[in-house]
Amino acid sequence: MLGDKMTKNILSIKDLSFSYRRKNFIENMTLDLEEGINVLIGHNGSGKTTLIKILATIYKVKAGEIFLNDISYKNLDQIKKLIAYVPQKFNSYDNIKVKEYIDFMSGFKSSNPDEYLNLFGINEYKDKKLKALSEGMKKRVIIAGALSLKPKLILLDEPSSGLDKEGREELRKIYEHIKINYPQVIILYSTHLEEDIFQCVDIIIEVKEGKIIFNGDLESYKER
Ligand code: ADP
Repeated sequence: MLGDKMTKNILSIKDLSFSYRRKNFIENMTLDLEEGINVLIGHNGSGKTTLIKILATIYKVKAGEIFLNDISYKNLDQIKKLIAYVPQKFNSYDNIKVKEYIDFMSGFKSSNPDEYLNLFGINEYKDKKLKALSEGMKKRVIIAGALSLKPKLILLDEPSSGLDKEGREELRKIYEHIKINYPQVIILYSTHLEEDIFQCVDIIIEVKEGKIIFNGDLESYKER
């Protein structure tokens, strides 16, 4: 249906608050995210990981509401099928080979593993174990695996951590590739570094002490 094709994927956060014990770390947050590359930037301790874990359904929504398209995060089973989450550290699959990992991940949505094995140049390393890869290459494999789940929303927690300048440059290319080849995905990645905000980024959300202090495009971010 034409109407379906024109409907954009959208994540809506409404009046979200979240506390660890007594102290509120996210306060009355309201935010809409659309398809494209979205960055969550803020100093350490500003609430980025907390928000990403809530969006990944690891932490439950207690106050406020979140919807992915029209589906509430209260419908956990449905939401989990629509998202992919890449945590900051990822060592559990260290002892399996790249092609085994991609085979395993793509199997969830019975998609074609070759499509994902051919992303970001990882095919060249398909017979290597994940632990034998550089941090940058490992990130590429994990992100390709996340894409193979065909999610509407991909959450990347500090993907540049542990990467050198070259590794960051590789991440930029990954975002550009996703933007062109998987334009209907909503990407949200977090960082505390301004140099992780690339030209291809659509929206920047800056957080401080659990509150949004900026939400806009790169041009207005530079002018702020
Ligand atoms: P960021 O990812 O921006 O560094 P976090 O979301 O990790 O920020 O942390 C936000 C705040 O919540 C910090 O003050 C942190 O100390 C606190 N915090 C994070 N995780 C926990 C936890 N499990 N228990 C209590 N406080 C926590």
